[in-house]
Amino acid sequence: METKTPKGPTLRQLQARFPTEESCLEHLKMVRYGAKHTCAKCDREAKYYRVKARRSYECEHCGYQVYPTAGTPFEKTRTSLRDWFYVMFLFTSTRNGVAAKRVQREIGVTYKTAWRMCKLIRQYMGYVDGDDMIGGADGQPVQIDHAFVGGVDKQGHDDKKVVLGMVEEGGNVVARHLPNRRGGIVAKTVAANLKPGSRITSDAEHSFGVLGYMGRGYQHTILNNDAGQWSRGTANNNSIEGFWGMLKRGINGTYISVSPQHLQTYLNEFEFRYNMRRHPHMMFDLLLLSFPRSQAR
Ligand SMILES: [Zn+2]
Repeated sequence: METKTPKGPTLRQLQARFPTEESCLEHLKMVRYGAKHTCAKCDREAKYYRVKARRSYECEHCGYQVYPTAGTPFEKTRTSLRDWFYVMFLFTSTRNGVAAKRVQREIGVTYKTAWRMCKLIRQYMGYVDGDDMIGGADGQPVQIDHAFVGGVDKQGHDDKKVVLGMVEEGGNVVARHLPNRRGGIVAKTVAANLKPGSRITSDAEHSFGVLGYMGRGYQHTILNNDAGQWSRGTANNNSIEGFWGMLKRGINGTYISVSPQHLQTYLNEFEFRYNMRRHPHMMFDLLLLSFPRSQAR
């Protein structure tokens, strides 16, 4: 039975939900503390009331103050919460990523600030997405493939970086930036992300040869792409090809160039969106919810 994917919010809906700075702070307070919570100082169940001229709320009994932005990326910036919410919205509603230049232009901050905001949001997307293993003997087949992202550096040298992608059919993707594509690195990365007993489909690339012999019970189906073989029975590589399409449109189209030390963070961003593709309406709130609770990876 086919279920329809719910739609994510529109910009209009976001603006209606968060019309003011105050409404953003109130929402953050509700996310962190709920309507009532036990006061850390007087130990009584308390409602919290807004303290004027500060980003804080105080306990109805003892006046103890809580700061909803404490420990979040919002705490130490002069950027308004509305602007933060807007940029987070952009990240959860785009397909191809959000360039810092665009953020700079649209909310009127310096490029450096815009870039830092984007980097933090990406890190939190990685945190929300998590690192759960995929596949397994009772899971769906996992399609594994390499891609090369990036182009040439400023000196005109080839600057492509190796990414290993693993996607469980109908499920989640894991994408990892690898230092090279030797069999040892591939095997280690696959073992860290695929449950034992997984069914694997890949092309005939040399470094994938080891996957069926790792002692983890992987059943490996090899497609000989060079000979025009794109599927075997139900085995195919369509899902991972779909992910590569999105990633390359984003990296090549929006981000133009990505330095090696930041590539994994960009991969986390695309992973998050892909893995949330059936729940676009939840992306924004999940992201917001993660801010106070996490150390971004
Ligand atoms: Zn109190």
